[in-house]
Amino acid sequence: MSFASLGLTPALLRAVRALGYHAPTAVQSAALPPILAGSDVLALAQTGSGKTAAFALPLLQRLVASPPRPGPRALVLAPTRELAAQTAELLRELAATLLHRPKVALAFGGVSINPQLMALRGGCDVMVATPGRLLDLLDHNGLQLSGVQCLVLDEADRLLSQGFADELQRVLALLPARRQSLLFSATFPPAVQALAAQLVHDPVHITV
Ligand code: AMP
Repeated sequence: MSFASLGLTPALLRAVRALGYHAPTAVQSAALPPILAGSDVLALAQTGSGKTAAFALPLLQRLVASPPRPGPRALVLAPTRELAAQTAELLRELAATLLHRPKVALAFGGVSINPQLMALRGGCDVMVATPGRLLDLLDHNGLQLSGVQCLVLDEADRLLSQGFADELQRVLALLPARRQSLLFSATFPPAVQALAAQLVHDPVHITV
C-alpha cells in the first residue's frame, strides 16, 4: 500500500515524504479512503499506530477543498495538553505545504487564556483544543463553532476517563448536526460506545 494509492493530493504526498513516512501504517491505510470520502469513522487505535496522521491528512485535504469561513471548519478535541500540542504540530507541518496554508489554532488549559484569545482574532481553519479550555474560549466569544464541518475526538476513552463528559456534551450541542465525525479511541468501554452511538452516523469501523 502506498500513500498515493489512498487518494492523497500531490501536495500532501510531498508533505508525508518530507516527514519521512515511506508507507502508510495500518490505521492510515484503513482510515484515509473513508475520511476522504466524507464518511464517519470509528477507529480503535493505540498511540504509536500513526492515528494522528490518519485523521490529519484527510482532514486537511477535505478542508482545502471547502470555501473559507471566519470560524474553524475542523475541530479536534484531545484529552491532554501534550496530545493537543502534538496534534497541532503535525497539522501545522502538513498545512505549511498547502497552497492556502490553513491556519491551525491550539488551546489548552493551565495557562493564561489571553494569548489564545489573541491568536484566534485572525480566525482559524482548524481548532485543536482540550474541551474545558475550548468552552472558556467560547465563553469569552473567542470563536464560534457553527461552521465546523469535521469533528475529531482523539483518545475518546481518555476524554471520558478524565472527566470531560459534561464539557463534551456542551461542545457537541454547539456543532452543526450536519458534519463529519471521527472518533479515535484505544479502548471501547461502554461509555465510549454510548458516546459513539450519539456521535457517529453509519460509521466505517476500523480496528488495527
Ligand atoms: P501517533 O500514533 O499518531 O502518535 O504516531 C506515532 C509516531 O509514528 C509518530 O512519531 C509519527 O511521526 C510516526 N508515524 C506516523 N505515521 C507514520 C508512517 N506512515 N511512517 C512512519 N512513521 C509514522
